[in-house]
Amino acid sequence: MSTLPEQAVEYRTFYIGGEWVQPAGAGQITVTSPVNEEVVGITPDGVDADVDRAVVAARSAYDQQGGWASWTPEERGEVLERFAVEMDARAADSAVRTTMSNGMPFALSQQLEGGLPGAFVRYYVGLATAQQREEIRPGFLGGPALLRRYPIGVVAAIVPWNFPQALTFAKIAPLLAVGCTVVLKPSPETVLDAYTVAEAADAAGVPAGVINVVPGGRETGAYLVRHPGVDKVAFTGSTAAGRSIGEACGRLLRPVTLELGGKSAAIVLDDADLASNLEALFGACLINNGQTCWLNSRILAPRGRHDEVVELLASLASGATIGDPFDEATQVGPLVSARQRDRVEGYIAQGIEGGARVATGGGRPDGLDRGFYVEPTVFANVSPDAVIAREEIFGPVLSVIPYDGVDDAVRLANDSEYGLGGTVWTTDHEKGLAVARRIQTGAIGINQFFTDPSAPFGGVKSSGLGREMGVEALSTFQELQTVYLDPAGPVPEV
Ligand code: NAD
Repeated sequence: MSTLPEQAVEYRTFYIGGEWVQPAGAGQITVTSPVNEEVVGITPDGVDADVDRAVVAARSAYDQQGGWASWTPEERGEVLERFAVEMDARAADSAVRTTMSNGMPFALSQQLEGGLPGAFVRYYVGLATAQQREEIRPGFLGGPALLRRYPIGVVAAIVPWNFPQALTFAKIAPLLAVGCTVVLKPSPETVLDAYTVAEAADAAGVPAGVINVVPGGRETGAYLVRHPGVDKVAFTGSTAAGRSIGEACGRLLRPVTLELGGKSAAIVLDDADLASNLEALFGACLINNGQTCWLNSRILAPRGRHDEVVELLASLASGATIGDPFDEATQVGPLVSARQRDRVEGYIAQGIEGGARVATGGGRPDGLDRGFYVEPTVFANVSPDAVIAREEIFGPVLSVIPYDGVDDAVRLANDSEYGLGGTVWTTDHEKGLAVARRIQTGAIGINQFFTDPSAPFGGVKSSGLGREMGVEALSTFQELQTVYLDPAGPVPEV
């Protein structure tokens, strides 16, 4: 069963300032199906003048007297509840658009891309409403001060194509709840689902200029990052782009959150019972066709269990149903683009040249001549110095690396430029926790990996700067002001 539309979805306008406006340029974004390589969508391509217009709209929605930023969290919550309802109503559409653009297995896109937007909005409305925005600091050396938290302003939100809706709402749900306004720049590969955000905002009556969407490529993104009307940048994407954005924001002294790449380790301890955890193992190592930032693509196995771990992973990878991501049985769909497939195949070739043994995969699956498919691939006996063990591949390619003793496993796990995710596999919960505590990473799971909105998510080292999600996300979209109170005056009630 394929749910690809018979005709390409076509948009001719942008959603800016609460209106569907004509684009300033004549360029187009063409979305290609990773399943059959045909065009599934066309939108205008944003240029600098579109960004200017969107930032002006977001600026005025933020700055205006009596506007979004000055509403109470309860008032914003009413509008955002309507927005969540409209996103829920479009959940199936968002999931279809995501899968038809990036090849994500449909069951996953229904759960995450369709299901999370409304849930994230409601979650952050609840947190923002409960947050204490003003407090009195009694003072240590002097008199009392009033501490205020206020929305940081206009946010540039830039997202990648791998989990486009979930990552968009990890940003816009908290920022809207605290009173910021946003210019969202989706990835050209997954621009169609971003239009559902604009349509839902419009239908929900989100005030004009609070949410603006400008599709475009990296130049458009780079222009948005440096725009003088932007107060904060929230970016998810590659480490290379993150470095360049971080440099630009550093020069501007502009707050920035960077959610970047990873090369996370799954540490299989001596006593691990992988056979009882196959679903969780698949989730940690192969989810979303391997196109997941926190993917556990380095599997650290005790030397004595190396061959057994390789065999189990190889059977998991070779037994996965590969095919049309809209087919319910599909566990691994195509990669997002020909470029991404070339990149992944390039890494597989480097792994083979470097002497690692291919335990399974390594090629393109039989019978899938159209579409950007790559077989899930497991390399055995990989040297920790090999390119495939060090660089982010962003595809279904796993490297099993043998280790000698727990200290060696911890050393190897931490011997990475990145630090985003990771797992420990063990039947001893205490030991699992003790090892998890020693890993330099933003998030790690024991016998599972999961990202829950209640817990902060983000990376250390080259995996990023700052955190998203959790109650902590609210403060990343807020500024602090201290008001030293008149010693002769009363202390206000807060
Ligand atoms: P990418 O960096 O090429 O693009 C991401 C987004 O940034 C796109 O919208 C792109 O148009 C824009 N962009 C690119 N260069 C830019 C620049 N210099 N200035 C402003 N905008 C720019 O990444 P991608 O290929 O779309 O996504 C895959 C990468 O994203 C992987 O490295 C993956 O690990 C990472 N990622 C990280 C997380 C996380 O939470 N840490 C989550 C998902 C994906």
